[in-house]
Amino acid sequence: MVLADLGRKINDALRSLSNETVIDKQVLDAILKEIAAALLESDVNVKLVMQLRKNIYNIVNIEDLASGTNKKKIIQKAIFDELCRLVDPGVEAFKPKKGKANVIMFVGLQGSGKTTTCTKLAHYYQKKGWKTCLVCTDTFRAGAFDQLKQNATKAKIPYFGSYTEADPVALAAEGVGKFKKEGFEIIIVDTSGRHKQETELFEEMRQISSAVSPDNTIFVMDGTIGQAADAQARAFRETVDIGSIIITKMDGHAKGGGAISAVAATESPIIFIGTGEHIHDLEPFAPRPFVSKMLGMGDIGGLLETVADMKTNPNLINRLGEGLFTLRDMYEHFQNISSMGPISKILSMMPGISPEMAQLSEKEGGNRLKKFMCIMDSMTDEELDSEGKPFRDQPSRIYRVAKGSGARVGEIEEMLSMVSHFKKFAEGMKNLNGMGKNLAQGPPGRGGMPRIDPSQMARMQSQMSQMLPPGMLQQMGGMSGIQDMVRQMTENGGLAEMMKSMGGMGGMGGLGGLGGLGGLGNLLGGGGGGAGSGSGSGSGGPSASPGSSRGKPAARGKGRR
Ligand code: GDP
Ligand code: MG
Repeated sequence: MVLADLGRKINDALRSLSNETVIDKQVLDAILKEIAAALLESDVNVKLVMQLRKNIYNIVNIEDLASGTNKKKIIQKAIFDELCRLVDPGVEAFKPKKGKANVIMFVGLQGSGKTTTCTKLAHYYQKKGWKTCLVCTDTFRAGAFDQLKQNATKAKIPYFGSYTEADPVALAAEGVGKFKKEGFEIIIVDTSGRHKQETELFEEMRQISSAVSPDNTIFVMDGTIGQAADAQARAFRETVDIGSIIITKMDGHAKGGGAISAVAATESPIIFIGTGEHIHDLEPFAPRPFVSKMLGMGDIGGLLETVADMKTNPNLINRLGEGLFTLRDMYEHFQNISSMGPISKILSMMPGISPEMAQLSEKEGGNRLKKFMCIMDSMTDEELDSEGKPFRDQPSRIYRVAKGSGARVGEIEEMLSMVSHFKKFAEGMKNLNGMGKNLAQGPPGRGGMPRIDPSQMARMQSQMSQMLPPGMLQQMGGMSGIQDMVRQMTENGGLAEMMKSMGGMGGMGGLGGLGGLGGLGNLLGGGGGGAGSGSGSGSGGPSASPGSSRGKPAARGKGRR
């Protein structure tokens, strides 16, 4: 996937930094040389790479840094920031306004992916509740209207076009006028980009643009064009008022650096990248998450958005808050996950999971999900409404289910241990909930905020750190991050909100089947080197070995009642 090689090379360079005991100019030179070479190899524009190096030298004045300062951290941060700057023009992207017609015009060379991306974007907005439609103005290519019509019909998006009208400008004006009258909010105008002659292409673009007065013009660029991107982007920029960029074909083995760095030439933000031919293969783009994902640091923001899109079952969140979790909950949860789209996409947003690993995991992960659901289909209602107790009481049930579902006994045990882990997560939620209530009822401290007594704080911290898998803990800034979170939620009285987001995270963990990232490895058969065994998924909890968790949760359950 996207720039995976580049990410790995930069990571290697950064890692070599950690291995050095003395950080001097020589070390910095060597690292920057490596990073520059990696960027150039990915087709990032030469001038930009030179500038990046210069900027880092300016920020990191190695001789002036006091010996006590953490030079490694400062260098790493400077490199991260400069990589972000490379893809960040510092311009706000266009935001459509609700309740009015937002006309969005697509421009770009033929074959760059305009028509495909138009539908993806329409679908994206439609999912978010906008009244969306498509206008086809490609009167040149035979079958162009059919292509758009097919895409739009499949996605249930209203469209406009004609088999007979030959004038794209007239078509554009008519289509946009009609949809405006009908109260559409997002009107996407696809153009042909057919001309070999730049002057003709740009003239047609200009005419359509003045006929429909777009609120935003999106320049679509093929991510595989390499160094040619710079010149292409400049040519478009000089003709039309480009508002944003979408880079397509960032799946596969494209180097992508050329197109990515074309933001500098257009001074317009990249808003999405296309990562495949299907309608959901469109990922929102933002500089920092993109860079952190490229470096294998995950994209928690994107992950949470994806999870928010999924129809989170509010019931499940409530149940988790009450310390409840059964096999049936897990079944419903898996159903939810299956409806979220490719697992690899979600996986690639996880810290520590490289894009290649995510791809590898796709098939296996999906298969395991199906397998687990198949196993649960062979269970009785009594079993489904339990957290696995009937199986512990009567192990012969495991053999019955194995036979019925064609699964191995080990797989069923593994699944049962997963439920135990979820249950543990739910109990943690319940405890936290209780502690939070106590806090809220306690005497107010300074500023009317509830006073947090240090021992309570310590208890909540340890509770949370047990619930969160290692990868997530790191992402939150370790223990101090948790401390901040505890403080925030008590000070804002936002426990309910917090519970909701924890529910969301539980949901996210559920992607893997357990209370967090750690569990992902489990679902995907991770643990040690395999797919999906990123940061700490191998250590994703005691449930990694079915035997160890079978007795314990039962004892916990009894203790509670
Ligand atoms: P247009 O001429 O600019 O309208 O380009 P099309 O939308 O017709 O796309 C040209 C080809 O690129 C089609 O075969 C698309 O399926 C393909 N395509 C578009 N976007 C992507 C993408 O993000 N990834 C991949 N792999 N193919 C894409
Ligand atoms: Mg087209």
